[in-house]
Amino acid sequence: MKNNRTTTTQETLKILEEGIQSLLDSDRYKQYLKMMAKFHNYSYNNCLLIMLQCPTASYVAGYNAWKTNFARHVKKNQRGIRIIVPCPVEKERPDGTTTQELFFKAATVFDVEQTEGDPLPDIIHPLTGTVDDYDNIIRALTEISTVPVSFEDFPGKACGYYSPHEKRIVVRSTLDQKARIKTLVHEIAHSIAHDPDTGECKNDNRNLKENTAESTAFAVLYWLGLLDLMTDDYSFLYLLGYNSDPSTLPEFHQCLNSTQKIANYLITQLEQKGIKPIA
Ligand SMILES: [Zn+2]
Repeated sequence: MKNNRTTTTQETLKILEEGIQSLLDSDRYKQYLKMMAKFHNYSYNNCLLIMLQCPTASYVAGYNAWKTNFARHVKKNQRGIRIIVPCPVEKERPDGTTTQELFFKAATVFDVEQTEGDPLPDIIHPLTGTVDDYDNIIRALTEISTVPVSFEDFPGKACGYYSPHEKRIVVRSTLDQKARIKTLVHEIAHSIAHDPDTGECKNDNRNLKENTAESTAFAVLYWLGLLDLMTDDYSFLYLLGYNSDPSTLPEFHQCLNSTQKIANYLITQLEQKGIKPIA
């Protein structure tokens, strides 16, 4: 027979799956997809060019595209990101027929951070709100983590990161308390499962890694009583982005075992440190 902890975590992960599924059917997600469709899919080379020039870029579009498709405009004195775009040119053959030749020209795009105007619908936003037992929970998690944890502000939009090379965790200090706790659990899960030496899932691809980390964070925060499922849908949206087929969530299912193991471990450790779920 399975113990209680395992059953509870399993039930929580079921709630997570249902949450993702219901988001899939929602108008909110449909709007989100509609917005994503307006962004051009850049070629591999251009993604590389964008990343090299602006490592923190998330949503990029041309000057006019920001205006016409998103009702936003590029702020003053912004340095654009240079990319290469193909432009087909019609040429007339001697016999009067036409042929298309492909030329490449430089173009400029801008990251969403360089623009202002109407908010983009439903871009994933971190959890908000304060937590009564915040200091104790953070202290306990910091002790549980086998790598050093620091709270800092850093460039880009990520809530935090685990550096496998430096073996340390950084959590964005400007986040609300609830988001800081969730991020710390997410990064601790990475540090356990994806440690380059000892991590059991170290060879997983990016999608699988994010599924393990975020699902663990969801399970632990749910156990802590910190999630309001009506409003705190960060994990649902986040995980949709890291599943190759959102309707069947293959990566999510592939990670259920590792998620459960790490979540159970962290919850047991938290209990041993006297942390109790918020009633
Ligand atoms: Zn992550």
